[in-house]
Amino acid sequence: MAYDENNIFAKMLRGEIPVKKIYEDEYALAFPDINPQAPVHVLVIPKFKARNFPEFVQNATNEQIAGFMKAVATVAAQLGLQEDGYRILSNIGKNGGQEVPHLHIHLFAGKVLGPMLCKK
Ligand code: 5GP
Repeated sequence: MAYDENNIFAKMLRGEIPVKKIYEDEYALAFPDINPQAPVHVLVIPKFKARNFPEFVQNATNEQIAGFMKAVATVAAQLGLQEDGYRILSNIGKNGGQEVPHLHIHLFAGKVLGPMLCKK
């Protein structure tokens, strides 16, 4: 499937929708999740157009991949999360529960986050 240019994160990257920027560099943009699931819930997205993590790794350059991953760590460091810790997660496709078809890393923090998966 092709990348959907009209997904909400693509519109944010094009400046068509206002974004409360937490961090931005040439590779990535970070902003608070609109529906936070933890005291700190930030989304970090690459500026590269990829629907998900495997497409990003397959199609982006090593520089773009490294730049994005470093941006995720930089966001966490700038938010002062290194000492107490945090969780990063990326949903992929239907079984992953992905809603927005532009790669994004969820960064959760601010409390003990509990089990990795809901035990339903
Ligand atoms: P996914 O389920 O695709 O992994 O996560 C998508 C995330 O994007 C959800 O946590 C949702 O709350 C967040 N989200 C969806 N639309 C918007 C928006 O317009 N602004 C922001 N800041 N977050 C959004």
